[in-house]
Amino acid sequence: MTEDQKKKLTRLLEESTVQFDEPMDKHTTFRIGGNAECYVRVENVEELGALTDFCKREEIPFFFMGKGSNLLVSDNGISGVVATFGEKMCDITLHEDMIVAEAGATLSAVAGFALQKGLTGFEFAAGIPGSIGGAIRMNAGAYGGDMSQVVGWVRVLTPDGNIKTILGAHMEFGYRTSILKEIPYIVLACGIQLMPGDEKEIRLTMLELGARRREKQPLEYPSAGSTFKRPEGYFAGKLIEEAGCKGLSVGDAKVSEKHCGFVINEGEATAKDVQELIDQVRKKVYETSKVILEPEVIFVGD
Ligand SMILES: Cc1cc2nc3c(=O)[nH]c(=O)nc-3n(C[C@H](O)[C@H](O)[C@H](O)COP(=O)(O)OP(=O)(O)OC[C@H]3O[C@@H](n4cnc5c(N)ncnc54)[C@H](O)[C@@H]3O)c2cc1C
Repeated sequence: MTEDQKKKLTRLLEESTVQFDEPMDKHTTFRIGGNAECYVRVENVEELGALTDFCKREEIPFFFMGKGSNLLVSDNGISGVVATFGEKMCDITLHEDMIVAEAGATLSAVAGFALQKGLTGFEFAAGIPGSIGGAIRMNAGAYGGDMSQVVGWVRVLTPDGNIKTILGAHMEFGYRTSILKEIPYIVLACGIQLMPGDEKEIRLTMLELGARRREKQPLEYPSAGSTFKRPEGYFAGKLIEEAGCKGLSVGDAKVSEKHCGFVINEGEATAKDVQELIDQVRKKVYETSKVILEPEVIFVGD
């Protein structure tokens, strides 16, 4: 970006905050990533529209992220603008029997809200550390539930600057994917359809699933969750263990000994370390089981 573009962009946004050369390791759960040339916390839809329009006109690369819990950001950083929602885009409200959540809200906050209202069906998401927007893009899921089962509608900003509502049934949800993989809509909000339930049971289920996560997953280390998608008919972690990759490391990036499906950052891992480790694991798994592992983690940056 030129100095002139930086000035114009700053002037364009009143409520949202703009930071230049912002280290992305502060904004990813992997604690990895070089600087974003420009990092914007967007606080309202009008400014998001103005920002995307500006980037399009000025031919500045634009990337929208959530909580950075499924991203591996390059050590060289990200050119152009990286935007995410700020604290004013996290509202959660109840409209009759539907929860309406703005895209910046975390899944745990929505799960807490559902619990408070005695609504069941969102317990699966309580421990997934992402935002509503990221969860819809990824069709995030766990323990038999996923977003496709509960999302009634999604409000998006289209690439040409319009706002439209898409029914859940038209979101092309699949395993860790949605229509957003093909079309760069930005999720603004969604309606989540749950069922009346027993508050005690909902709480118990959330606590049980949380305990299962803590027991099975290396939550004490930075990571981006499961590094690979589950190959049909297999478990990625089991294939990785069978390929002898348990504890395999490159620099500070390591295949977790607690759960082989997770690559963890033991301290100073770089994106290059993680990428190299992923390549090694994929090669070894293919050699032993002839299964091609596909990364679930999204690679971003230069
Ligand atoms: C410890 C740990 C455990 C995890 N467990 C699970 C699990 O059980 N199940 C599971 O599915 N995932 C899991 N994850 C992965 C991750 O939390 C999910 O994929 C989550 O949905 C990502 O949300 P996010 O807001 O962090 O998105 P990000 O990682 O920031 O972005 C992910 C993708 O979503 C897009 N995106 C983000 N916000 C928007 C928006 N508003 N509009 C359009 N696109 C958007 C980004 O462009 C990017 O392509 C885990 C991660 C960690 C670190």
